[in-house]
Amino acid sequence: MLNMESYVSRVLNGEVLTHAEALTLLNLPDTDTLRLVDAAWQVRREYFQDRVKVNVLLNAKSGICAEDCHYCSQARGADTGIPRYRVMEPHEMLAQARQAAQAGAQRYCIVLAGRGGSWPEVETVAEATRLIKAETSLEVCACMGLLLGDEGRRKAEALRAAGVDAYNHNLNTHEDHYENICSTHTYADRTETLTHAAQAGMSTCSGVIIGMGETPEQIIDLALTLRARNADSVPVNFLIPIDGTELGDQGTTAHFTPWYCLRVLSVFRLLNPRAELRASAGREIHLRSLQPLALLIANSIFLGNYLTEEGQGESADWDMLRDLGLRAAAGNGGPGQPVSAKPAPTAPEPARPDHVQPGAVG
Ligand code: SF4
Repeated sequence: MLNMESYVSRVLNGEVLTHAEALTLLNLPDTDTLRLVDAAWQVRREYFQDRVKVNVLLNAKSGICAEDCHYCSQARGADTGIPRYRVMEPHEMLAQARQAAQAGAQRYCIVLAGRGGSWPEVETVAEATRLIKAETSLEVCACMGLLLGDEGRRKAEALRAAGVDAYNHNLNTHEDHYENICSTHTYADRTETLTHAAQAGMSTCSGVIIGMGETPEQIIDLALTLRARNADSVPVNFLIPIDGTELGDQGTTAHFTPWYCLRVLSVFRLLNPRAELRASAGREIHLRSLQPLALLIANSIFLGNYLTEEGQGESADWDMLRDLGLRAAAGNGGPGQPVSAKPAPTAPEPARPDHVQPGAVG
């Protein structure tokens, strides 16, 4: 029988588990998985105690994209019937931010569909950020596609100068598998984007979508890569196969069980012990009745719904946190907007922000 306490001690002492060890954990039988969840909980508790970071998504530009990400409901060729609209105005983003703050969010994630934000879109998000920062205490994360070359570097700097705290751009899947899920940009484009965001001074939020045909070995590689890149926030999404997308009916999630998803999250926790690990899209449908256990591993969620897919709803999310005895990391509605009937505000957690999910940019 594996010595889980030894793994926990080593992780808490700063040691990185080997690829082979992590793979063994990922392949544990269901009957041993609760021991792994407990190990992950011990690590999570050490760094994040009983706190959960609450994030709210804004789909600020929807359904207009020429890229062909096979998982995405907004991709070219996808027949998903989702709303299509151009980028919202800054005052519209502010109005939604007020609601997010009142709902108890700590972070507000502004997401624009598309390969990469144009200069007018960058300026729109920058202006929205200035308005939001002036009125609320929300962190702002921008997710607006690729930041390539010198222009990408300058766009990253412009966003940071406006007060954007974090930039989301997921790795999504393994480098060797990337061309199987997208042909219009590369894995290298993604890592360059993350580099520019970090160099501009934004916290990096980068995660994965599990269930797109990747191997178990590639899952471990991804978790180790995100650690090596010092990703502050690591959203782990479980693919929601959406009708009308390339991956809608390929059965790449057929092997999912709630216990398997918990093992994935646990391995990400043990390999990224200090990262803000987010149980992101798909938690409701793939973890099903075991979903609350995910919050003993992850310390972050998107509240309510996702970009183009519905979650279990805000009220059920809060109920879940309360039933687990967990608290919002900073349930702060901003000046004049107390968060009554929500988990009590706590001190902000150490700087380590986050974010996205299937059907999103990233
Ligand atoms: S993930 Fe982003 S870049 Fe890819 S198709 Fe969807 S909106 Fe476009």
